[in-house]
Amino acid sequence: MSISKNGREPLYVVGGSSIHGRGVFATRYIRKGTQILEYEGERISNREADRRYDDSRMKSHHTFLFTLDKNTVIDGAISAGGGDASYINHSCDPNCEAIITGRKIFIHARKGIEPGVELAYDYQYERTGKNDDELEKFYLCRCGSEKCRGTIMKPAPTSRRRRASKKNRK
Ligand SMILES: [Zn+2]
Repeated sequence: MSISKNGREPLYVVGGSSIHGRGVFATRYIRKGTQILEYEGERISNREADRRYDDSRMKSHHTFLFTLDKNTVIDGAISAGGGDASYINHSCDPNCEAIITGRKIFIHARKGIEPGVELAYDYQYERTGKNDDELEKFYLCRCGSEKCRGTIMKPAPTSRRRRASKKNRK
C-alpha cells in the first residue's frame, strides 16, 4: 500500500473482488468529486496496442488499454508500468469515473463512497461497429448491479462529453 502525499492514511487498498479477480476498495470515506488515483501505464500508439493485444488470439479479455486521444492509449498492464488503478473493476452503476486531465487519466469519485466498498467505473469499452454482437458476448459484465447492461462495452453513443474510454482493437 502506498502512502498518500499528505501523509494521511491512503484512500484505498487492493484486495480480492467478488466482481472479478482483484479490486480496489475504499479504506475510509471518500467524498464525491475526490480525485482518488491516476491510471498509470505506458503511453503507446494505437498501432502498438493492436500489435500487443489481439482479441481473436486471447483466451481472456484484456481491459488494460485506455484511450487518451486518437493516436495514443495508455497500457495499464502491470508489466507495462500499470498501477493500482489497473485493478479497478467495471460496473454498469459505478461509484467512480475516469476523467482525462492534462493528458493524464484520473479516477474520481462520482458519489460518496463508504469504507470497504469496492471502487468501480464504467469501462465504456469502445465499439468497433463490426462484430459488436460477438464482442458483447466476449466482454460480459458481472457487476451484479440492477442497471447491469450485461457487457462492459459502451452503450450506443449519445454523449458529447469527452469521456475516457477503454480502447478496443480495430
Ligand atoms: Zn454490469
